[in-house]
Amino acid sequence: MRQSKNAHVAARKKMQQTNNVKFDVLNMPPENTNSVLVSSGGDCVIFDAWGRAADWVHEFDSRGVRLRAIYSTHGHPDHISAAPDLVRKYNVPWFIDADDLFLIGQNNNILDYYSLPHIELGNVHPTSMPDGPLNILPGIKMEIIKTPGHTPGGVVFWFPDFRILLSGDTVFDECLGRYDLPGGDRHKLWDSVERLYKMDFSDDTFVVHGHGANSTIKQLKLHNPWFRAR
Ligand SMILES: [Zn+2]
Repeated sequence: MRQSKNAHVAARKKMQQTNNVKFDVLNMPPENTNSVLVSSGGDCVIFDAWGRAADWVHEFDSRGVRLRAIYSTHGHPDHISAAPDLVRKYNVPWFIDADDLFLIGQNNNILDYYSLPHIELGNVHPTSMPDGPLNILPGIKMEIIKTPGHTPGGVVFWFPDFRILLSGDTVFDECLGRYDLPGGDRHKLWDSVERLYKMDFSDDTFVVHGHGANSTIKQLKLHNPWFRAR
């Protein structure tokens, strides 16, 4: 979840298309979270499966791609809601950092607060995130950067060959993620964002945030007062 400030919704945007590889930012209904569908040939993986599984099935079918895995930047309900039903339907792994597994069982309390439907886990359980780097699909290498603070097990996904960063709720275009939710830690979040800053991504790196407008590393340096060395 994020601060209500900057609650503007990013338009659906095709980020990158190289040969058969595509990155698409999707705002699944009800729009709020920036989910990402990455496809290569006839396969895809998705990041932060917000919304309903039926809407994702429609996305896969309309693209003619088969789901191979689900990754979550963290365990809040608006980043995982469709995952259990998709795991049941496609029998794919769903990866989340081990330190966020405790959140999964608490999500319905948060959903009640927002009057949203519960997530029915049933016998579905996420798999602990590997350390990486991984080849998630043919031609797509991904690195996993641990960024605790918004949640204990928050991560950022980095695609070096495409210069694309999926920041989850660690950092937004002009502000930080929240640190007042269960397991949140202000000092860890500051450290995580500083570590991202010091990784020295190129200015043209495209950043997809968990909510709101997308940005670039250059825009973060110019407009996000938290994205700096302290
Ligand atoms: Zn969150």
